[in-house]
Amino acid sequence: MTKNTGSIHINQPLNTEVLPDILHRIHEEVIPAFGQGKVADYIPDLKCVEPHQFGLALRTVKGEEFTIGSADTAFSIQSISKLFTLMLALDIAGEALWERVGREPSGMRFNSLLLLDSEGGIPRNPFINAGAIVVTDIIAARSSSPVRRIEEFIASLSGNKDNRIDQQVAAGEKATGFRNIAIANLLKAMGNIEADVNQTLDCYFKQCAISMSCRDLARATECLANRGRSSFKSSFHAEAMDKRINSLMLTCGLYDAVGNFAYNVGLPAKSGVGGGIVAVSPGQYTVSVWAPELDHYGNSVLGQLALEKLTTYTQTSVF
Ligand code: GLU
Repeated sequence: MTKNTGSIHINQPLNTEVLPDILHRIHEEVIPAFGQGKVADYIPDLKCVEPHQFGLALRTVKGEEFTIGSADTAFSIQSISKLFTLMLALDIAGEALWERVGREPSGMRFNSLLLLDSEGGIPRNPFINAGAIVVTDIIAARSSSPVRRIEEFIASLSGNKDNRIDQQVAAGEKATGFRNIAIANLLKAMGNIEADVNQTLDCYFKQCAISMSCRDLARATECLANRGRSSFKSSFHAEAMDKRINSLMLTCGLYDAVGNFAYNVGLPAKSGVGGGIVAVSPGQYTVSVWAPELDHYGNSVLGQLALEKLTTYTQTSVF
């Protein structure tokens, strides 16, 4: 039950004793939604993924983990990688990053070129493709082996060395990613790409092709729920980064459907077209869901449904 202090509602501490039953119930309730979405088909390897899969992993800030379904199956994290490159680029460039990328929702599809030209080559936010490419460029321009740096950074946050790039997914996307190639070249023409544009793009395609499971993602995002602290990468204490990144996830993390997601789920989150979504309950837990079938906006159908049920049944929406 939500505590009611006059007219102020306070979200509940997570009750882990009843959580296994709640997760079991969620699993049963979302399965009938199989078939309501479509796997991403614009990236060659993703269209071959078996569509009817579902996994969820929740990790509390105390380190307890709860899973259902295929929580340990690795999948293509795609845009969820933008979270990690943002953490890394903020660590490298600090607040100067915001001279090159905005912090507002775009109201456009994630791979749109429309605003870029009229807004002087400054992408609206770091989670649309244009913004993520600029963020990756910051890493590419200041690292001798940027791809390895990103890969190792993510693997160190999750504590799983197997979180690697799927080279076949990356190659397929590079061969067909004409929109991203256009975005990067437009950014270059407008003076917002510092490294070689092909190097930045190569890095971007590869970061999107990293494979991780729900459990890995719940672990790798721990710092966002735990005041910047990570159990797996103790050297990484991103103070204040949780406040910054969680607010951006809440306003820009689910493409053009972020308002609906905030309304239904009420947690900062980031999704990817591989069907993953990672969400953060600040001070309490991180949760990752995966189900490859997507809605019209590119967000996992079952993933959104499961998270909506989770915050409803546990009363842990931040609102
Ligand atoms: N690699 C994908 C692209 O650039 C990522 C999109 C996504 O997951 O939102 O189109």
